[in-house]
Parts: sequence; structure tokens; C-alpha cells
Amino acid sequence: MQLFSIFGNPVSHSRSPLMHNSVFKNLHYNACYTRTHLEDGTKLKETFFALGLSGANVTVPHKEAAFHACDEVRGFAKTVGVVNTLINENGRLIGYNTDADGFIYAIEEFKDIQNILILGAGGTAKALAARFKQENLDVTVLNRSEGRLPYFSELGCKTSTWDGFILSKFDLVVNTTSAGLKDENLPAPEELIESILNATNYVADAIYGKLTPFLQMAKEKKIIYKDGADMLLGQGVLANELFVNGSLEKEAIKREMQKSFLL
Ligand code: NDP
Repeated sequence: MQLFSIFGNPVSHSRSPLMHNSVFKNLHYNACYTRTHLEDGTKLKETFFALGLSGANVTVPHKEAAFHACDEVRGFAKTVGVVNTLINENGRLIGYNTDADGFIYAIEEFKDIQNILILGAGGTAKALAARFKQENLDVTVLNRSEGRLPYFSELGCKTSTWDGFILSKFDLVVNTTSAGLKDENLPAPEELIESILNATNYVADAIYGKLTPFLQMAKEKKIIYKDGADMLLGQGVLANELFVNGSLEKEAIKREMQKSFLL
């Protein structure tokens, strides 16, 4: 039997085990998916092989560490330096990124998106910003601290910390910070979020499974919003395709994964 896992800190909230096990069980694929709490991202590779894994997903805050842990990185993950899916290919660790395409899938129903504000500058923000730029969208990145912003400037995004932020009109605002994941924080000071929400058409949060304080505010303002569930589904289907190496149909994977959302 093949073994898969998700690495993260925190990781107890993750729905990935349910999603992937639903596919494996219902499509009779001989594998099991578990979760691994990992404190130190530099221990990712040795832990992966010590557990005898065939593949894994990586979540907050280890996606950049995962990129550095790989023997080879393929596809879009190479562009962004962020890995969320790992495959054991004959003892070599291969890295992929399925988050960004998962998000594109999630926002398909939002119309006329040209101008996007990303809150946060971590791994998820990098993947989304790079993918949005590929689509020639206008991207602004707003983060709590300065340190991670140069990557986004080089990509052609406008960047700012909370202090220097100049408000303009956005079609979509996406929260990619972990504020609201395990706490009740907003992704930026309340007055700032308030003014941003007053100037946007759509709102999305990468966090799923709860109404974050950010989404709560959007809801109160009657803005169309969605949480990270569809993004989770999109990235999960693409990751599972890699795990089973083409031996299951994509539509069947999606159908069984969707069922796990009802559990
Ligand atoms: P990272 O750790 O790489 O980045 C976190 C970002 O959040 C940083 O920019 C950090 O700012 C900012 N941040 C953290 N805490 C706060 C706070 N209290 N207030 C304001 N900003 C804060 O995380 P990831 O990009 O890997 O993940 C981010 C979120 O997206 C997580 O909640 C994760 O669960 C979710 N996610 C959901 C997915 C889905 O499928 N739905 C897929 C991927 C991620 P600074 O630089 O100043 O430290």
C-alpha cells in the first residue's frame, strides 16, 4: 500500500486526508493519506523519506522550504519557488505547485476580473501573483512587513506595507495571510480592511472551513465572497492526479473528492 501525507504547522485543521482518502477508498486505489505536524521545515525531506511516503502535500508555513528540499522542481512551481505537492520518484523528491491553478478554477464564476489585491506575501501569494501575471492581470500586494515584497515588485506587481498603502478600486481582494486561520485576526488593521472592502466587487479567502473575520466583514457589506474550499478542491484534484500517476480519471477524482466535502 502506498502512503501519502500532508505536512504543516498547524496541520490538524487540514481536510486533505479526508479528500484524498475518499478518492483512494471509493476508486479502489491501494493507498492511505495521513497528516504530519512538522515544526522545522528543514527536516521535511528526511521526514518524508523516513515515513516511506510515495507523495505528500505541504501547507503553511513550509511551502518555500519544500521548494528547497526537492531534487527537482517541475512546471509552475519552478516559476514561483513554492511547492505544495511532493512525489517520490525512484527515491528522488520531485516538487510541483497545484495551488495557483486550483485558485483559477475557484474564481471562474467571478466575472470581469482585471485588478486584484492580494493580502499577504507568503507562498500562496507568490503562486497566485505569478499566475495572475501570466494572465496579464493588474496585481497589488499588501503585506504586514516589507521583507517578502521585492519578489512581487520584480514580478511587476505594485507592493505596499500597511503604512504606505494608497487605496484604489479593485475587482477582487484575496486574503492569503494566515490571519483568521487559528485566531480571530483580520489580515490588516480594521480601518484599512474596511476601506479596501468598500472599494471591491468580489472577495476570496484562501482559508476554508470557517467564516474568517475578513469574510464576515465582506458578508456584512453584502459583497460576493467565497472561502478557500473550491481552491482546496482544485489543488487537491491536480495533486491526486500526480499521486496516482494518471491511473485514475480526473472527473472521477473530482467527483469522489467533492463527496468528502459533505463529511
Ligand atoms: P505563509 O506562511 O507562506 O505566509 C503567510 C502570510 O501571512 C505572510 O505574508 C505573513 O506576513 C502573513 N500573516 C501571518 N499572520 C498574519 C497576521 N496576523 N496579520 C497579517 N498578516 C499575517 O502561508 P501560506 O501562503 O502557505 O498560506 C497562507 C494561508 O492560505 C493559510 O491560511 C493556508 O491555510 C491557506 N491556504 C489555503 C489553500 C486552499 O486550498 N484553500 C491553499 C494554500 C494555502 P509576514 O510576511 O509579515 O510574516
